[in-house]
Amino acid sequence: MQKADTSGSSMTLDTPIADTQILVELDIALPSAEGTHARRYQDGRGSGERSSSSHADSSHAEETALAALREASLGVRLATMSAVLVPPLGVLATMILAWGGWFGWVDLVLMATMYVITGLGITVGYHRLYTHKSFATRGPLAAFFAICGSMAAQGPVIWWAATHRRHHQHSDDVLDPHSPHAGRAAGVVGACRGFLHAHMGWLFADLRADMKRYVPDLLADPVTVRINNMFPALVVLGLAIPAVIGGLVTMSWMGALLGFLWGGVVRMFLLHHVTWSVNSVCHVWGAREYASGDESRNNPIMGILALGEGWHNNHHAFPASARHGLKWWQFDLSWVLIRSLELVGLAKKVRLPAPERLAARRV
Ligand SMILES: [Zn+2]
Ligand SMILES: [Zn+2]
Repeated sequence: MQKADTSGSSMTLDTPIADTQILVELDIALPSAEGTHARRYQDGRGSGERSSSSHADSSHAEETALAALREASLGVRLATMSAVLVPPLGVLATMILAWGGWFGWVDLVLMATMYVITGLGITVGYHRLYTHKSFATRGPLAAFFAICGSMAAQGPVIWWAATHRRHHQHSDDVLDPHSPHAGRAAGVVGACRGFLHAHMGWLFADLRADMKRYVPDLLADPVTVRINNMFPALVVLGLAIPAVIGGLVTMSWMGALLGFLWGGVVRMFLLHHVTWSVNSVCHVWGAREYASGDESRNNPIMGILALGEGWHNNHHAFPASARHGLKWWQFDLSWVLIRSLELVGLAKKVRLPAPERLAARRV
């Protein structure tokens, strides 16, 4: 059964959210067996607040996870940078090959399949499961989604979630990691620069969100930390899978190269720009159906291309909702998958906004 989210603590974006409330306001269940993270977070005073051995144990685990993240950070940063800069070159090579006749249906199928698999890894896994906890699922399936999301080469899962929680907390204010509006200069040039910053310029700025503040729940989970630190290898895996399949289907090295290019590099390039367009396009163009306190928009083209994430005004108004396309005609492939998983018992605690909350926020 779907559960309408009727909690009174749901996120309110009419006013900026205080740093110390982001997890609570995002309706994220804190790892509060002993209340450690919630208390420390709300106190905002870091590791000096230990008052029992269980708190100390939990804090030690968190410190260990942070140390592992720091060790992995160089590889992670190199992988992220090359994942941004290399695909355009690969796309160019692919176009030249296609011009010479090196392109077939196998390549197209590999690209579309890998686009959907890694795309859903981002939308269902990284975003709706890990960042917003809009549903719950068993460990192996959650890990599978994180692995698929990692293959999209959009950064490791914990960093992605921290950055995105910060985006919701500060949406379109100066602390938003990727707003096309905040701090923007006047005129057409300012608008273009703001758009480019929201699209991909922000990736090159040092915007490491405060991990302890934004993702204590993820840092406390060793499996998530391990997948996070395996990010560079998982990006390579996402390139190797279509190469191997392309090679085996055609039994040729050229088939492997084309599988690598279409199912790996071109797919990565397209999904990058579609995902970044949710940050740029969906904060500029489209309809505002709900009061969300920011410039988020529902954009039908991005709704389809981004597998449901383009109904972005809906999402900012109801960030904890597992469903972003809230109307029957707002196609949301990610929601279709979550609902299907729920029907077969693999997704639980699926959260949806209650009708009265929808009505109260309708513009
Ligand atoms: Zn947004
Ligand atoms: Zn979100």
